[in-house]
Amino acid sequence: MQVSRRHFLKVTAGGLAASSMGVLGFLPSEALAEVRQFRLARAKEIRNTCPYCSVGCGLLMYSLGDGAKNAKAEIIHIEGDPDHPVSRGSLCPKGAGLLDFIHSPNRLKYPEVREAGSSTWKRISWHEAVERIARHIKDDRDANFVTKTAEGVTVNRWLSTAMLTASASSNETGILTQKVMRSLGIVGTDAQARVCHGPTVSALASTFGRGAMTNTWVDIGNADFILIMGGNPAEAHPVGFKWAVEAKKRGARIVVVDPRYNRSAAVADEYLPIRAGSDIVFLGGVINWLVANDKIQWEYVRAYTNAAYIVKEGYGFEDGLFSGYDAAKGQYDRSSWNYEFEADGTTAKTDPTLQHPRCVWNLMKAHYARYTPELVEDLTGTPKDGFLRVCQHLGSTAVRDRVGTILYALGWTQHTVGAQNIRTMAMIQLLLGNIGMPGGGVNALRGHSNIQGLSDLGLLSTNLPGYLTLPSEKAHPTFADYIAKTAPKAQAPGQLNFWANTPKFFVSLLKWFWGDKATKENDWGYDWLPKWDKMYDVLQVMDLMHNGKVNGFIVQGFNPLTSFPDARKTAADFAKLKYMVVIDPIATETASFWQNHGEFNAVDPASIKTEVFRLPSTCFAEEDGAIVNSSRWLQWHWKGANPPGEAKTDQEILAELFMAVRALYAKEGGTAPEPILNLSWPYKNPLEPTPEELAKELNGRALADIPDPKDPTKFLARKGEQIPNFALLRDDGTTMSACWIFAGCWTQAGNQMARRDNTDAGLGNTPGWAWAWPANRRIIYNRASCDPSGKPWDPKRNLISWNGAAWAGADVPDFKVDSPPADGMNPFIMNPEGVGRLFCTDKLVDGPFPEHYEPMESPLGTNPLHPKVVSSPAVRIFKADRERLGTHDQFPYVGTTYRLTEHFQFWTKSVRLNAIAQPEQFVEIGETLAAEKGIKAGDWVQVSSKRGHIKAKAVVTKRIKALKVAGRTVHQIGIPLHWGWETVAKKGFLSNTLPPAVGDCNTQTPEYKAFLVNVEKIGVA
Ligand code: SF4
Repeated sequence: MQVSRRHFLKVTAGGLAASSMGVLGFLPSEALAEVRQFRLARAKEIRNTCPYCSVGCGLLMYSLGDGAKNAKAEIIHIEGDPDHPVSRGSLCPKGAGLLDFIHSPNRLKYPEVREAGSSTWKRISWHEAVERIARHIKDDRDANFVTKTAEGVTVNRWLSTAMLTASASSNETGILTQKVMRSLGIVGTDAQARVCHGPTVSALASTFGRGAMTNTWVDIGNADFILIMGGNPAEAHPVGFKWAVEAKKRGARIVVVDPRYNRSAAVADEYLPIRAGSDIVFLGGVINWLVANDKIQWEYVRAYTNAAYIVKEGYGFEDGLFSGYDAAKGQYDRSSWNYEFEADGTTAKTDPTLQHPRCVWNLMKAHYARYTPELVEDLTGTPKDGFLRVCQHLGSTAVRDRVGTILYALGWTQHTVGAQNIRTMAMIQLLLGNIGMPGGGVNALRGHSNIQGLSDLGLLSTNLPGYLTLPSEKAHPTFADYIAKTAPKAQAPGQLNFWANTPKFFVSLLKWFWGDKATKENDWGYDWLPKWDKMYDVLQVMDLMHNGKVNGFIVQGFNPLTSFPDARKTAADFAKLKYMVVIDPIATETASFWQNHGEFNAVDPASIKTEVFRLPSTCFAEEDGAIVNSSRWLQWHWKGANPPGEAKTDQEILAELFMAVRALYAKEGGTAPEPILNLSWPYKNPLEPTPEELAKELNGRALADIPDPKDPTKFLARKGEQIPNFALLRDDGTTMSACWIFAGCWTQAGNQMARRDNTDAGLGNTPGWAWAWPANRRIIYNRASCDPSGKPWDPKRNLISWNGAAWAGADVPDFKVDSPPADGMNPFIMNPEGVGRLFCTDKLVDGPFPEHYEPMESPLGTNPLHPKVVSSPAVRIFKADRERLGTHDQFPYVGTTYRLTEHFQFWTKSVRLNAIAQPEQFVEIGETLAAEKGIKAGDWVQVSSKRGHIKAKAVVTKRIKALKVAGRTVHQIGIPLHWGWETVAKKGFLSNTLPPAVGDCNTQTPEYKAFLVNVEKIGVA
């Protein structure tokens, strides 16, 4: 607040003369400087973490209220935590506005219901809300639960109610959600990851073994070259981006490749435009250039990749199709995408000379020979000379002592080829020897504060915590099948093949679900988990809803009406639901989809019969718990104040709902009550499991004494003790852990996630700050930072090394710590081969090598690489959605969506400070197109696709250039995300009205980044 001198004198006119004030040092300027200090001196300081993006900036919150009767704690100030190793006291415009989020007028205070056909909310008690929702759940579950398939396989699933989970809720909320949801049999579930970084997990896991950002925010500062492509971190991750700037200060070059000249480009050394949806052409061109110009880190490639592995006969690629394509099914039979094996059936054959015509190296070389610099220019619209400069920069890191990194986000994931975009870059980084290296890696910049954690906790349709798979009815009808098929055999001699430990993680998980009721005799309660027949991702669930097969939708901390593609169709499908439950701290468009908001939501409430419950939950400042940033750090945060009104924590809400449902089953019986009645619920207050109780379960504990195999007189852990790490987990029922990769986060030594030692152990690594999965390793695959003999490739980048007896250094080795280099164990310990995959065998559905396919709505209408196969042949699209695709003759321009630095998704439109900073919806249009259409800056325009339209102000800009692509001019239109009608800013249209409901082939993440639109001027400025 600004206070003028006159105002100050007025408010202090209680008797002190101005002269005496001056004598006492109370001149207004000095006194004003002290005002905040006085307030904060009486305040309590609480540590927290920014709930928006996954940089995970540290916060200091200050609250007033000393706990006396009638004295209510209230957060009065928030600032950056100067001790935080990543943010170092900085906050971006979103973090700086957090106080306004906590006190937003759009915070929900009381449970409400919108009765069928009503046009208003009605306040109800928590008791009534819980009783009514529990009744809906039980009735729908009893009526529609599937216990067995026609073949007699127990599947115990409930498909007629689906659930979405929150991306900013704590791990503790996430794991309780997992427990409740699976006990009910829900398979139709997703977190925000499905619509953002899903492809990251499948691309990186299929290449390196794990699906997470490889390095850390601070480590970006160690890079010599930074490519920013498929992301705009200066805008979307502003504080994390400071580490790119630090690298630049050290002499690193930064190049941005993006459809728009964006804020990252503004501080880069070079910017190159690109047509949205053509990234694989660019990156495939890089692979071709690196091979042709011998810019390969050969020692690394030979030792640590599958370049020498021989691919089996029958694999091929011709005219845009890989071997095994079934045109009738629109799917591949992937059996030919594998290695040739020795007689033992498990050891893959190799040719270290790289001469074999079917070794990975030669197949890769042939595949990308088509991606010439000329083709890159022709199909992407990027200038050839600029492309060649990027190749040279990247190629300069194919040596021991130079390292490059890539920063990307949703600009790569949100395409039908999302996973393959990322795969291509992962291959490049293997060729350059940049994985496992400080300053290297493939850095997936996660968008939401805890979407990494929610992914880790398996809150996706077919996942379980720790990247275990939910049992499948076809592959895993029995527990024995599950164990046999999820624990792979090593494909090369002497490899760690860490997933061989799956039975230990899985049995410990089942012991967490069902406690003493999970016994060896009943296969640890295996059949109480639901089994899937297909993936029930958001597109699948919405198609079922469209066809009237979903009755209930539980939406926790998610706003699908603003987030799912084709918003009009989504809203119409919501209207087919019998009940919807929305749990959120703020008002969302999803909860009010039935409410008429003029042209922004022109619906007739009377015709919509869905009963909608809106339950107010706490926000970050009002709860304890941990969230996981993009660098896999689990950071604990503390509660600073109570929530407004009657809002409750998600844990209380889930517990009350679950206990009410369980009570109904206990009283009335019903369909398949066992998973519910037998669920382990050991919480001191069953209606309010605490974050501490849940965090300890995430870590896991010994259920019996665990003897030391090396010395039977000793014990690794006594019964009831927290386990120190996942190495102690057992498959005999003597341990439990809710998420094996989190084992180590809360040990007998206490809460490791709350640690605040920011000592730099070397290269900016701060192992004493918070705790990182797995095992507090900060740079994963870090064994690959050393040559095969165990010495760092680059002595300046000495992260870990072999000291003659063990691996040790500034980071925790991501390796078997006592395995000497001579034993030949390789760095990619999660892969059964031990090496990184240039050819990813049968792990992805659309090919072992990335190939360019046009977006489903292509501005070219053809694919010059293979005109008979224009878009991905393996895409999954539902009939109703295919009918809503447009063509380039009707919709000639490419639309692409993105985030602004002042806003976070659809939350900050409820925050005054951010609403002031960016109050109104706009779209960006290049000058050439604007001139053609007679559009001037500030004019109103209508942007339309086959699925609907939005209206917005036009920003006419030099930042988006018309591109020459395949002989024609392609214009692109930039569409920021953030508007809606539940807002303290100006009401706006839902930008996701425009994109089609079609997803990445592997993960179904929708194609928000390249679709077809038209634009028309509808009003003047
Ligand atoms: S939004 Fe991201 S960069 Fe901004 S303060 Fe929050 S965590 Fe930091």
